[in-house]
Amino acid sequence: MFHHSETASADVVVIGAGILGLFTAYHLAILGVGRVHLIERQVPTAGSSGRTGALIRSTYDNEAEARLALASLPVFREWGERIGGSCGFRPTGLLTLVPRQDADGFRALVAAQRSWGVDVALADAAQAMECTPLLRLDEAVGALSHEATAGCCDPILACRALHARAAGMGVTFGFGDGALALQASGDRITGVRTAQGTIAAGAVVVAAGTGAATILGSVGIDLGLVPHGSRVMVFHPWHLPEDAGLPTIIDHVQQAWFRPMPGNGLLVGNEFGGQRGWNGADGDMEVPADLVADYRRVLSNRFDRVDGAALRGAWSGVFVMSPDGRPILGPAPGYANLLLAVGDSGTSFKTAPAIGLALAETLLRGRADSVAIDAFAPRLVPKGDPVAVTVSR
Ligand SMILES: Cc1cc2nc3c(=O)[nH]c(=O)nc-3n(C[C@H](O)[C@H](O)[C@H](O)COP(=O)(O)OP(=O)(O)OC[C@H]3O[C@@H](n4cnc5c(N)ncnc54)[C@H](O)[C@@H]3O)c2cc1C
Repeated sequence: MFHHSETASADVVVIGAGILGLFTAYHLAILGVGRVHLIERQVPTAGSSGRTGALIRSTYDNEAEARLALASLPVFREWGERIGGSCGFRPTGLLTLVPRQDADGFRALVAAQRSWGVDVALADAAQAMECTPLLRLDEAVGALSHEATAGCCDPILACRALHARAAGMGVTFGFGDGALALQASGDRITGVRTAQGTIAAGAVVVAAGTGAATILGSVGIDLGLVPHGSRVMVFHPWHLPEDAGLPTIIDHVQQAWFRPMPGNGLLVGNEFGGQRGWNGADGDMEVPADLVADYRRVLSNRFDRVDGAALRGAWSGVFVMSPDGRPILGPAPGYANLLLAVGDSGTSFKTAPAIGLALAETLLRGRADSVAIDAFAPRLVPKGDPVAVTVSR
């Protein structure tokens, strides 16, 4: 057990027990990096990783992120053999719907995604209806794609299993121990100050979600990170058969997304349910009635026989936007022994297995061998118009 006192130390301190911190700690342990200690100000899944939709897909609009997702997909699909336990992966496949005005660009994107190795193909209405006869496709839908190997998982099960596996490999955990500041000497980080004392560290990984900006600010790093609240609601449509076999859907026509939930539920996410700069009121479960009506409308625009569906739950989460809407990964400017997995930009659950491995490799060998993360190297984008958040979970 790691004893946290004035003299505590570790070869690597990981800050944050969301999916990114957990995967990084796990891979550090596998690579035999030494004593790895993970501190978390609350408990694992207290942040975005406990509130995420956990859509697992590889259909990104850029090759670098698609490659992270492709490298991660087998981990979710074969979780039991690779990590142990379960991540509750549901191999639902993924339908993506785009509006008429975006159809040409989308067809070109699907061709590019296929060239990157993504298992995706354009689909027609009949093929989409085969996925779910309850689907409603109106004239606003200009094109569709189907990603056969995609799905969704249970993020809390995933984090639990990962924590158990990492702990079994000797990673130590300090829950309820928040990082207050980093300590530096010249161009090296020497430790982490927490409410309980100071931990001397050979290296530090910051994977602290909404807490990252403050931690990095303590050593003068400002990456322009902005929190963005997002709301989801779970409905249980009475008429939905138990074995409806619903696919996961990204609906760009409505700026929304859907995924099946255990017990015949459908989770609905929608961009108008959140906002830039909003901190998600720390998991606020209260939702205004007019917003519920909006989510119901989105649901019944897309599915038959969902009118009057029971609302079974709603929550908010927060992701952290980087200035250019891409995650920030790799060594921090000015400090070679400080690694970042920050600015998740709302899409980093599905890529976490590859990110964790790439960061562990970078720490050990100075470069990531398994997958390239150079495109996400810490960068400062000139502050101008804020990046629009699009539905790209
Ligand atoms: C509603 C919603 C839907 C989403 N849907 C998807 C999706 O379908 N697919 C997908 O890939 N991504 C999705 N995302 C994004 C995804 O959830 C995040 O990218 C991912 O969970 C980020 O993981 P993380 O480990 O960086 O952050 P977090 O899970 O937020 O973990 C950070 C941890 O750091 C801790 N922490 C913070 N400050 C400190 C401190 N000072 N000291 C110690 N610990 C600290 C926090 O308590 C937290 O546990 C969604 C996000 C939301 C909110």
